[in-house]
Amino acid sequence: MKMPEISLLEWQKRFGTERACEKVLAKIRWPNGFICPRCNSADASFIKTRKVYQCSHCRYQVSITASTLFHSTNLSLVKWFWAIYFTATDKGGISALRLAKHIGVSWPTARKILGKIRIAMADRDSIYRLENFIEFDDAYIGGKRPGKRGRGAAGKKPILVAVETKDSKAGFMAVEAVNVISKETVRHFLQHHMKEGQTVRTDAFPALNPVKEMHDHEKKVVPAEEVSKWLPMVHIVISNLKIFLNGTFHGVSFKYLQEYLDEFSYRFNRRFWEPELPLRLLNACLAHGPIKSAENC
Ligand SMILES: [Zn+2]
Repeated sequence: MKMPEISLLEWQKRFGTERACEKVLAKIRWPNGFICPRCNSADASFIKTRKVYQCSHCRYQVSITASTLFHSTNLSLVKWFWAIYFTATDKGGISALRLAKHIGVSWPTARKILGKIRIAMADRDSIYRLENFIEFDDAYIGGKRPGKRGRGAAGKKPILVAVETKDSKAGFMAVEAVNVISKETVRHFLQHHMKEGQTVRTDAFPALNPVKEMHDHEKKVVPAEEVSKWLPMVHIVISNLKIFLNGTFHGVSFKYLQEYLDEFSYRFNRRFWEPELPLRLLNACLAHGPIKSAENC
């Protein structure tokens, strides 16, 4: 579905007050107006201070943020909506520090907000399975020495990356951080990110061999200097990913690596719809249920 482009001024106009944000949330939850979950009455009043609807018939109260991404939040919805806007419009990926300054919250709060927004991003992409012709490789993040497998890999975190390729153009991508590149982690990646029975190209690294169990496997031993010919697209994506990680996060804490990978992938997969991103991301967050594992913010 095509979404309209939205400027900062337009965002302010549409989502600049708490009431406006509450109405957006209520509209998503009850598209045809509030219905009491206990007695089905449509007659209710809204208690502003607590953001709850109270059924006029049985007095049952329902919070508009319950069962949403904003469940038990202490923050105003206006701040949440702005956080979504700034996250969507910052091409390099906004840092928690910058977000904290923009919306007037502490760094730990901004960190938690970004964590939740990135979970919504990851969930949107988790539905998709790569198909047709796919380049697939492993890479290493962090560490002092360049290079990948074997020597120099200490202090680095391995990732698996796959990109659809057609007529020298990239399609969708998927990326996952793993503890080790092994047949098990490769199998898990393939199952979660690709449709079965596609054509998947790799170099001849043995751990990537499970590819042949599910796909047409094109593999070749390639010397380092020729790898960008055999797997051009996945290497462009990996180098852009490294720039993204170094630019915003100045060397990544492995604890948050998957979050950053999810954000990179979400943006990459929507690179042709950049002007629509704020509203798309808002929709992804509005459609998302509560995130129980994350701390509240
Ligand atoms: Zn009721």
